[in-house]
Amino acid sequence: MAKEYAKSFYKSTAWKKCRQSYIKKVHGLCEHCSKPGYIVDHIEEITPENIGDPDITLNHENLQYLCTPCHNRKTFGKHDPIRDDVMFDATGNLVRR
Ligand SMILES: [Zn+2]
Repeated sequence: MAKEYAKSFYKSTAWKKCRQSYIKKVHGLCEHCSKPGYIVDHIEEITPENIGDPDITLNHENLQYLCTPCHNRKTFGKHDPIRDDVMFDATGNLVRR
């Protein structure tokens, strides 16, 4: 489940369009390994402070399309893998509980 502040964003038409057009742009392939991708990831993570800023949330420059293994590597590579303060929402984005 996404954080309350992010729920309406992920349900928004603007995000769905942005996400779909981004996936098309990268031909549906993971940008790291070129296997079929799964997750549109925000490079600069969405926070309550920037969620109203389309330059962050709806900017293709701030997105990357990843397959699940690459996303997990990105997400957990630099951190302790045992964390209970983060999770994935319905669209596969990492969110804080
Ligand atoms: Zn990959």
